Amino acid sequence: MEFRDLAAFYERLEATSKRLEVRAILVELIRPLRPPELARVLYLSQGMLRPEYEGVELGVADSLARRAVATAVGTDEGSVGRLTKASGDLGTTTQELLATVRRLEESGPLTVAEVYRELSRIAEAKGAGSQEEKVRLLVSLLVRATPLEGKFLVRFVLGTLRVGVREMTILDALAEAFADGSKEARARIEAAFNLSSDLGLVAGVLVEQGVGGLASVGLEIGRPIRPMLAERERDLAAVLERMGGSAALEYKYDGLRVQAHIPKRGPVRLFSRRLEEISAQFPELTDALPGAVRELPAILEGECVPIDLDTGEIQPFQEVSRRRGRKHDLARVQEEVPVCLFVFDVLLAGGQPVYEQSFPERRARLERMLRPTDRVRLAVQSVVHDVPAATEFFEEAVAAGGEGIMAKSLKDGSGYRAGARGYWWIKYKREYTAGLSDSVDGVVVGAFQGRGRRAGHYGAYLLAVYDPARDRFETFCKVGSGFDDAALAAMPKRLARFETGERPPSVETGLTPDQWMRPGLVLEVRGAELTLSPIHRAALGAVRAGAGLALRFPRFTGRVRDDKGPTEATTSAELLRMYRSQVRQASPSEEAPTSPTG
Ligand code: AMP
Repeated sequence: MEFRDLAAFYERLEATSKRLEVRAILVELIRPLRPPELARVLYLSQGMLRPEYEGVELGVADSLARRAVATAVGTDEGSVGRLTKASGDLGTTTQELLATVRRLEESGPLTVAEVYRELSRIAEAKGAGSQEEKVRLLVSLLVRATPLEGKFLVRFVLGTLRVGVREMTILDALAEAFADGSKEARARIEAAFNLSSDLGLVAGVLVEQGVGGLASVGLEIGRPIRPMLAERERDLAAVLERMGGSAALEYKYDGLRVQAHIPKRGPVRLFSRRLEEISAQFPELTDALPGAVRELPAILEGECVPIDLDTGEIQPFQEVSRRRGRKHDLARVQEEVPVCLFVFDVLLAGGQPVYEQSFPERRARLERMLRPTDRVRLAVQSVVHDVPAATEFFEEAVAAGGEGIMAKSLKDGSGYRAGARGYWWIKYKREYTAGLSDSVDGVVVGAFQGRGRRAGHYGAYLLAVYDPARDRFETFCKVGSGFDDAALAAMPKRLARFETGERPPSVETGLTPDQWMRPGLVLEVRGAELTLSPIHRAALGAVRAGAGLALRFPRFTGRVRDDKGPTEATTSAELLRMYRSQVRQASPSEEAPTSPTG
């Protein structure tokens, strides 16, 4: 494939944000392709050279790219800089500049294969003289590039190629281009992606072996699995009900999720929840793991938490975040902030995949294979059958420094669901109980279109508190959960008479809803905690300049406060008082804690 054809596709992709259109363009783009070109095009289109977990970086700073562009078009860096200031984007400037010079046409048009190879060389250039080498390689591409190719090449190396191609849309397109486009095919493609985290690999297998062949995509040491995620519930009774009366409860450790890949021989590799490799940050874990695990090779999951090695007590998470990205005084930080991995799952044991086994089977396996040390321990667990026992365990977990509990299903279907959020795991946090006990009465000032199951209806509402002194409605959350189908269906009717074409002058917010509403209807909501927000305007500036208050995890309680008019809603001052009392309970610092696990 010639690179100019790919650039033309990018131009089309850039012009739309509609998922269906993006998908149609993608299908047209990839259908004629075969491996390995298919994989390259998929990576390139996401602004990458390799699957994300490999962490390949181009290492081209703005200034280097400017220099390359200046050299390629025979001008000076200063002019390129000035033009970029005006256009706001070096890619656009490159396109404009290339249109004014004669292209080097002797070596023919650029192919995708060539571009991919040269970009890889740019990424590989490391150490002394590498900056010059990167510039040289980029120049040799740019002198052959058409203006449009130049625009996308420069954006690619700067990491600003945003043509709107998301993973989920690529999965859709793969199902349509190389399978029958059915839900079933789409699900199998996604499953293979969730296990391998590598779209290029999945696409290759799909094209060569068909949907059936995807079953061969399994776990591999060194290739992270997309993590299973938890749902949340409002109380322990609801948690147990969801789980069918019994559940395994575990401490919910407040730290960093770690997926540990431990080969029989060779280096242990650690991946974060976002599949970034973080092995270098935790040498004490990579050292300790091989000795603490019996059946290798193995893939385990756990939460990495700072601990006091003398007492074994869990320390506040903030301590561990000081390590992120640290390269230099790691030895000192290691001593100051020792960490421990609390292991809670096993996906591969003795080289065999076990992720499909039920959770009780995996846990039993884990207990057999782990030789706990002071660095590697088993997550504390208890199987409960009633609410009093669950409450007791929850309180024990919080007292021990956990942020709550994780409940895990004991049922037959409780295999590890890579990349999926579901009720097989349910989190229940301290915040829901102590952090914010009061509900908030918020005024609806806008509505957002729903997606998925809620398409065609409003899916979420923008809520505000009232400031009587200024007669203003200041937003503090966008709430979409807590509505059952009946409530959801009833809302538009109730709100119809408040709809208005533009933002009512009394409403202050940093968001633009799909539909503005005049302040009228009052809803009762609850949330996990109040935090500072750059978008919401409640009590703006009262805690920190430029920041308003926002409710995290807002949830409609089911109560429409028909008894209240908009000016009887919760006031900004009351919200501020709630924020302050919550801060005092949670920590001595000025600000409420923000969730560290991301
Ligand atoms: P959240 O980040 O609030 O969605 O909660 C889910 C996260 O809790 C997981 O991604 C883990 O990082 C963390 N976690 C802590 N303890 C456990 C546990 N025992 N089991 C599973 N996840 C846990």
